[in-house]
Amino acid sequence: MKRSYISDLKSGQKVLLKGWVFEIRELGKMRFLLLRDSSGIVQCVLKQGSKGFNEELTLESVVSIKGKVKNAKLTNKELTLKNIEIDISELKVLNKAEELPIQVNEKTITTGLDKRLDYRSLDIRKPKIKAIFKIQSTIINTFREFFYKEGFIEIQPPGIIATSTEGGTDLFEAKYFERKAYLAQSPQLYKQLGAISMERVFSTSPVWRAEKHDTSRHLNEARQMDIECAFYNDIEIMKWLEKVVQNIVKKILKDCPKELEILELKLKVPKAKYLTYKKAIDLLSRKGIKIKYGDDFEPKAERKLCFLFPDTIIFTYEWPSELKPFYIWPKGKGVSGGFDAVYGGVEIASGGKRVHIPDILIKQLKSKKLNPEDFKWYIDAFRFGAPEHAGWSIGLERLTQAILSLGNIREGTLFPRDRRRLTP
Ligand code: ATP
Ligand code: MG
Repeated sequence: MKRSYISDLKSGQKVLLKGWVFEIRELGKMRFLLLRDSSGIVQCVLKQGSKGFNEELTLESVVSIKGKVKNAKLTNKELTLKNIEIDISELKVLNKAEELPIQVNEKTITTGLDKRLDYRSLDIRKPKIKAIFKIQSTIINTFREFFYKEGFIEIQPPGIIATSTEGGTDLFEAKYFERKAYLAQSPQLYKQLGAISMERVFSTSPVWRAEKHDTSRHLNEARQMDIECAFYNDIEIMKWLEKVVQNIVKKILKDCPKELEILELKLKVPKAKYLTYKKAIDLLSRKGIKIKYGDDFEPKAERKLCFLFPDTIIFTYEWPSELKPFYIWPKGKGVSGGFDAVYGGVEIASGGKRVHIPDILIKQLKSKKLNPEDFKWYIDAFRFGAPEHAGWSIGLERLTQAILSLGNIREGTLFPRDRRRLTP
């Protein structure tokens, strides 16, 4: 008999189902189970005399069930989607689960995040948690599909590098035969070389940053969604970001209504607002958050901007050069072609117009106390016909956090890596 999925069931069918035991209720001569598979949850009734009635059942055991689909009036409507149940003719325990260290079936999640992460493979069985990752899968897929359809080439930048991108000390060291190497903190330099040669490229890649922070918005391993385009400037490239994020939210609304309902979220396709850095700090100052020209935004300022412009991606551009990396184009008078984007209370992306002139690169590297010799392979690449270009990077977990209003970025990370956590 071919296996059926719960979401496809119709009254009257004889079916074979496979899945996990989500709930058990014993009522003398009847046993009620909720069976869960990847497509949903269904109530099953096991009557005395049916095959398997005497099987010992534990929560999360893997079972196979043969039976008939019947119409039924259900009370547990938020979990089971249709008014049907299975009249079991045969139940087999395929793999019995031991006593669970955390509850999978809890109406409101009460287990602490740390313990949930310790048992993450159980945690993601919860409909509420699985919904986050279904939506994250929609985010990254929509990003890929969007730029692929626009004619961009997907590239695979290296994860092991010889020199740092930003020059900071926040790199994880790795042993590379006789030499020292580092884990990539960003695909930046490589996607630029892709763009000056192939014009329009995108990538999704993990990045590693050895920053010792312990915040609700930082991980030590994150995933970035990047694009880089030749013949683009900072203003033009921001538009792609606006468009793709709007498309991502539209796609979530279309493909994940069930998940949004489980998460009790009302999503809106965001608008976009463009402010120069100068205008943004003036506005924030008027609203009680004083920022000196030349200072970075504290999380408080990012949240304030999002509060002032709800359901909006807020771009702040023309940041002071001193706050931006060496590869960001200097527009003059200390102003750069660098920008940030905040949404849902957090920075979701940074980007800008890049430097494509070797002499300017060397000057900027020196001004950031970096050694141009370490970047020779990169600088030299711009000597053989490099167009002006621009790009940006969106953090996947940050965007998940922003769209789903997650209090902690770890909620939107399958197996987070942070200062204290390296397993599972
Ligand atoms: P922040 O200022 O928020 O620490 P950043 O400016 O150092 O981030 P970028 O180098 O601009 O980060 O990286 C591009 C994007 O990647 C960020 O806007 C963010 O969405 C994501 N990102 C960067 N660092 C992290 C991190 N440590 N954890 C999670 N996401 C990150
Ligand atoms: Mg940034």
